[in-house]
Amino acid sequence: MADTALELRTIALTAGAPSRPRHGLRDRPSQLPTDEAGVMARRLTLGYVTGLGLLAAATLGGSWLINNALTHRAYDATIINQAGAQAMLSQRIASLALMKANGGSADHDHATAELPKAVARMAASHVNLSRIANNPHLGSPDLMTHYFTGETPLDLQVTRFLQQVRNLEGDAAQARAVSQDALDVLLPRLAEAVALHEDAAKGRADRIAMLHKAIVGLALALMLAEAIIIFRPLVRRTVSMTAQLKREACTDPLTGLMNRRAVIEALTETLPHHTSVAVVAIDLDHFKRTNDTDGHAAGDAMLRAAAERLRATVRDSDLIGRIGGDEFLVFLFGIATETEVMEVAQRMRDALHLPVPHNGRLLRLGATLGVAIAPTDTDEVEGLLRAADEALIRTKRAARGKVGRVTRDDVARTRRDASILRALTATDIDKLPGFTAHLQPIIDLADGKVRGVEALARWTSEELGPIPPDEFFAAAQKLGLAAALSEAARGHAMAAFAKLRREGLDLGRLQINVSAPELMRDDMVDAFERQCRTHGLALSDITVEITEDVLLDRVSHTTLDRLCDLRARGVLLSLDDFGTGTSGLLQLLRLPLDEIKLDRSFVSRLGVDERARQIVEGTIRMAQSMRLAVVAEGIEDEAREQDLRNLGSAKGQGWLYAPAMPVDALRDWLKAHAPQRETAMAQDRHLPAA
Ligand code: C2E
Ligand code: CA
Ligand code: CA
Repeated sequence: MADTALELRTIALTAGAPSRPRHGLRDRPSQLPTDEAGVMARRLTLGYVTGLGLLAAATLGGSWLINNALTHRAYDATIINQAGAQAMLSQRIASLALMKANGGSADHDHATAELPKAVARMAASHVNLSRIANNPHLGSPDLMTHYFTGETPLDLQVTRFLQQVRNLEGDAAQARAVSQDALDVLLPRLAEAVALHEDAAKGRADRIAMLHKAIVGLALALMLAEAIIIFRPLVRRTVSMTAQLKREACTDPLTGLMNRRAVIEALTETLPHHTSVAVVAIDLDHFKRTNDTDGHAAGDAMLRAAAERLRATVRDSDLIGRIGGDEFLVFLFGIATETEVMEVAQRMRDALHLPVPHNGRLLRLGATLGVAIAPTDTDEVEGLLRAADEALIRTKRAARGKVGRVTRDDVARTRRDASILRALTATDIDKLPGFTAHLQPIIDLADGKVRGVEALARWTSEELGPIPPDEFFAAAQKLGLAAALSEAARGHAMAAFAKLRREGLDLGRLQINVSAPELMRDDMVDAFERQCRTHGLALSDITVEITEDVLLDRVSHTTLDRLCDLRARGVLLSLDDFGTGTSGLLQLLRLPLDEIKLDRSFVSRLGVDERARQIVEGTIRMAQSMRLAVVAEGIEDEAREQDLRNLGSAKGQGWLYAPAMPVDALRDWLKAHAPQRETAMAQDRHLPAA
């Protein structure tokens, strides 16, 4: 059972690990096939790169256009200037011609010198402008018409005008006619040419601007296309893949149920929103055997069947998780009463007990269930899970295949146990905070003198306050720490005992409880003696109290040897709890005893139960005949003391005299109650002299 529980826990812990799951679970079923993913990735990359290339081309084209537009603008400005300059030149030529014909000799000379230059400039400009007018890319149809077609094209007019000027021979009338002609006819035509050049430049600029707009539009369209064709599917794919991964991380692939982490997360999230939640922890019975003997396929079939049946038994709003190899958790929400919860759990149990058909055979299925309810048991997640687990473990131990439940008390006890175990393991056991030993006097019933003190371990835990020795020893036993803890108690007791003795107080013998695990240590006797010496005591100062369970184990003869060895070195042996199930008559034959301690249960019934009186009387007689001392335990009142004295018990111990006390209280008690200084041993008729 313990092995199975441990194994289950191991499986539960490793369930989330990515390694290949146990019990022949399949690989994850719904992964994207690798080549499909590859094709998709390649397609996306191609689309992305193409889109980016086109965008880059559009950007470069736009920038080239803007450069081009700027260059053209400068060029156009030059042309327009040049065209404007033609008008001024024609006027200047006309006035120079007049000056040459009519002017004085100085003017004549000046005009004669300047006229050819002006004519040459105008001619050169004209050649340039008419070439532009003739170029379909730089000019315009109107310019072409203006310069070269119609009755009097500008080209012809200018050529003729320049020719006329060149032909002037100083005839004043002729010069006047030419210049008049220039002002009246040529000048408006030149002005018109300027306007047409301006129109052509503007037309070109408009065309470039339009082209630029088209490119910007194209780039925007590309970006839009990229977003629609590339990014939208990419984002969708990423979102769906993330969701799928998340789903896979939360799901048990075999059953499709939530896995441990997911189901506990879901509970943590939902618990605050519900007034009542029941947790059912389920463990399949016989699963491991089926899995081992019939194969993993059979195991898988059982798990799948269990999952389906659980799904069919609860509401859709309830949660089911597979949290380990064959462990499931179910959370039932909003069920009002405990009876109803137990009914649902019972239905689950019944469903899980139907056999599972597999390969033409019927596999035997069974399950044990543990139930915990919030807020009845506890209202926090961890406690709830622990309570359900506890219920499951207890039920499995007591009645496998049933539904079990733990109470609030069980939960509290479990928590307390856990706290004790935690505290015991938190530090070295011999430095356990709040741990010590108290001493309880053992009294001679004849004269009231102290014959010994029994060392009793005491522990006040920081978290839980005082804890009874039976409880903390049982916990220490689980951890294999009982012997060490008892040794620590002994150390405290020896120190206190030695201290009081050094102060001159006589305490008789120190009575030490020794349990079975302590006697198993090979070096027990030597260690015991060393411990005594450390505190300045001898083994002959000690009485060891044992119960019969020290001889119950398989190595009882070694234990017996050890007890004999101790006794040979001066220790007295006392049989504790005499008359109870754990210490009986048989031990009187087997053990080399000096004393028996009559159990409290007999003492407390004296005067109430005649048979108890007879047993006590018989026991004391028998002890006397075997020369064994008798200590009556648990004397709480004077009537009991008187009875025992009448029946012949030599010594007694109990709250009538004193409880177990720390060293200072014991010192005070000794001073108040036992001022006599005689040695206890000399007075004790029943004990052999040490
Ligand atoms: P025990 O050896 O039988 O110890 C006697 C128990 O009776 C003690 O309980 C003591 O406190 C209690 N007692 C004494 N006088 C009276 C009385 O008048 N009335 C009642 N009702 N009880 C009385 P305690 O201290 O709870 O110890 C329980 C058991 O724990 C002990 O039973 C002993 O078996 C074990 N134990 C205690 N200290 C040690 C230790 O240091 N080492 C080992 N191995 N066991 C220890
Ligand atoms: Ca005892
Ligand atoms: Ca006892």
